[in-house]
Amino acid sequence: MKAAINKDKCTACGQCADACPVEAIQVEDEIAVVNDDCIECGICVDTCPFEAITLD
Ligand code: SF4
Ligand code: SF4
Repeated sequence: MKAAINKDKCTACGQCADACPVEAIQVEDEIAVVNDDCIECGICVDTCPFEAITLD
């Protein structure tokens, strides 16, 4: 599983994309999108100020 974005919470602030060490997040159409490069490190989960990211 890659990191999952909660579309109801994401404000497209871009902080997760800046924090991701493998550039696995892009902000598209006012929501963050995670691609298959995600290594499940969890940094973005801790970075998001709106608790919009989860890792199962
Ligand atoms: S840090 Fe959170 S609110 Fe900001 S773009 Fe990423 S998922 Fe969305
Ligand atoms: S879990 Fe790590 S690798 Fe995956 S999107 Fe978040 S910061 Fe990037």
